[in-house]
Amino acid sequence: MLKIGLTGNIGSGKTIVAEIFNVCGIPVFDADLEAKKILNSPDIISRLLGVFGKDIILNGLVDRKALANIVFSDPDKLAILNAIVHPHVRQDFQNWCTSHEESPFVIYEAAIILESGFARQLDSVVLVTAPEPLRISRVINRDGVNREDVAGRIKNQLPEGEKIKLADFIINNDGSELLIPQVLRVIQELG
Ligand code: ATP
Repeated sequence: MLKIGLTGNIGSGKTIVAEIFNVCGIPVFDADLEAKKILNSPDIISRLLGVFGKDIILNGLVDRKALANIVFSDPDKLAILNAIVHPHVRQDFQNWCTSHEESPFVIYEAAIILESGFARQLDSVVLVTAPEPLRISRVINRDGVNREDVAGRIKNQLPEGEKIKLADFIINNDGSELLIPQVLRVIQELG
């Protein structure tokens, strides 16, 4: 089984591209969604309490907004959060792969594959790209957040130009090219 990473900076369109892979019959593991689910496991809650204090807990669960406010303005704290959560996500991914053994390849979708070094454990990486102003306006429209919020998150991501050098496949999502033919081309090359 080939394990293919699917990544892209905030608002690039990786979720849409992941859906196209999925419709084409390729199983997709949504690592960012798994990370959110893991945040509410008792073991993780107690570790987060120890590091970030009780202000990040609301009604016994992790207050993701409070946590985001802390980590998106402090790269060291973001690294600590990732170090707590990501080993669990990766273990879940390995288990998930075992349950999809019959698939010739699977997709691991996550925002920070290239930053985290996880790319080394994958067979190829597909990067979704779009110019930064377009990505920012997509996120503002999608999440109802303001420009500063988006800019704060972008700061923690490797610039797209750097990621292009590291990726094996590029899917251009600046609106000038259809996505489905691009995904089919990747599948063809992988197959
Ligand atoms: P994040 O890292 O924040 O999860 P993402 O890379 O998964 O972002 P998406 O959620 O897929 O990005 O796309 C961001 C927003 O832009 C969504 O609302 C999506 O519907 C919209 N969008 C993405 N691609 C296009 C496109 N080609 N044309 C129009 N809208 C698009």
